[in-house]
Amino acid sequence: MNLKDYITIVPDWPKEGVQFKDISSLMNDGKAYKEATDQIVAYAKEKDVDLVVGPEARGFIVGCPISYALEIGFAPVRKPGKLPREVISYNYDLEYGTNTLTMHKDAIKPGQRILITDDLLATGGTIEATIKLVEELGGIVVGIAFLIELSYLEGRKKLEGYDIFTLMTY
Ligand code: IMP
Repeated sequence: MNLKDYITIVPDWPKEGVQFKDISSLMNDGKAYKEATDQIVAYAKEKDVDLVVGPEARGFIVGCPISYALEIGFAPVRKPGKLPREVISYNYDLEYGTNTLTMHKDAIKPGQRILITDDLLATGGTIEATIKLVEELGGIVVGIAFLIELSYLEGRKKLEGYDIFTLMTY
């Protein structure tokens, strides 16, 4: 099965010049979604992962089935004001302005081996912020898994030193 057959490329969305990679058509196909999940599950097994962490919202779509398959937990990374208990926050710069991500303070036990998941690696800013949160809570990032990597944006450079697994590269 070629997973790229299940990605829809949407021209000029959300703005002109962007070729948006839509993963919802992959999720919409049960066999393709399972195949993508199975490949990441095999990677997570190799890395002996204790907990999956993913940023909203597509990091949940990729990460939660991995947690289910391995019978391990999932911890969400969310925008400010969404998590109800005590959180830690991390601010990072975007092309225009800044963004903040948060995690519950008790989401990770120090020393836990963490797999971070998201749908797509672009510039790496989202995952760099996620790594900072995980490490502040004492987690060890043993792997980062994406469905798609946009290699021309060189997000890997920002994540140097971490093990990255991607199913499709553009
Ligand atoms: P980064 O922080 O620049 O690596 O951006 C990654 C985030 O932007 C991911 O969470 C993606 O959901 C989103 N993103 C950027 N480009 C695309 C795309 O073409 N398709 C789907 N999501 C995208």
